[in-house]
Amino acid sequence: MASTKKSSPRVALVTGGNRGIGFEVCKALAAKGLDVILAARNRELGEQAAKALGAGFLWLDVADRTAIDAANDIGPVDVLVNNAGVYPPGKVLDATAEAWRDAFETNFFGALSLCRAFVPSMVKRGYGRVVNVSSGDGSFGEGLTGPAPYSLSKTVLNALTLKLASEVRGDVKINAACPGWVRTRMGGEAAELSPEEGADTIVWLATLPASGPNGGFFRRRKKIPW
Ligand code: NAP
Repeated sequence: MASTKKSSPRVALVTGGNRGIGFEVCKALAAKGLDVILAARNRELGEQAAKALGAGFLWLDVADRTAIDAANDIGPVDVLVNNAGVYPPGKVLDATAEAWRDAFETNFFGALSLCRAFVPSMVKRGYGRVVNVSSGDGSFGEGLTGPAPYSLSKTVLNALTLKLASEVRGDVKINAACPGWVRTRMGGEAAELSPEEGADTIVWLATLPASGPNGGFFRRRKKIPW
């Protein structure tokens, strides 16, 4: 007799979900039936955004190691979207120490710590999707454009994506996405894409079938160079 037991929805954790691309990713994943946990460092804005989507809320500053340790309490996560990001200015020789620290703490160490917190249980359970929201600015192939702290923090995020993808087993997929140039606080009003369009590749990677890619870097659902 065929089982009529309904499987429970996948759980997705999205960082920086209170605005911009992260909010649109939460919205699209919720519309696809995932159980979304919208994480944000601003409690008021985060709770408001989560409420608007009927999503769960997690207070999470990804640059705060204690907060990441505490995030483990939410239990296993099937889909992790490392979206939270900052865009500190400067060239290699003139960017401030704070700009370098800020870029790497948020854009790289935040994502690394969350991978270390949630990927082991994905591997154990045999299913997981991680999307590291990166940027063409971090691509050697596209010329390492953009401010130095931002660009290099995304380069290392790309390297993390490739390295971790080589370590996982089972139906666990670790990919990076460049959303394109998107109209958000970071992208500015002149950007070509809406936040919803920017979220598309991320949502696609977050919900890949078992036959989907592992260890790639994508924009508009097409592979781009590291
Ligand atoms: P955004 O509107 O500025 O949103 C950034 C989000 O990250 C906000 O929710 C922000 O929270 C959050 N955040 C920053 N530092 C954080 C921290 N330490 N802990 C938790 N959350 C933190 O920018 P966006 O355009 O949506 O960017 C989303 C991602 O796309 C970023 O990784 C960015 O690098 C990438 N990206 C964007 C573009 C573009 O054109 N927009 C292009 C390429 C890549 P607060 O609201 O509290 O500040």
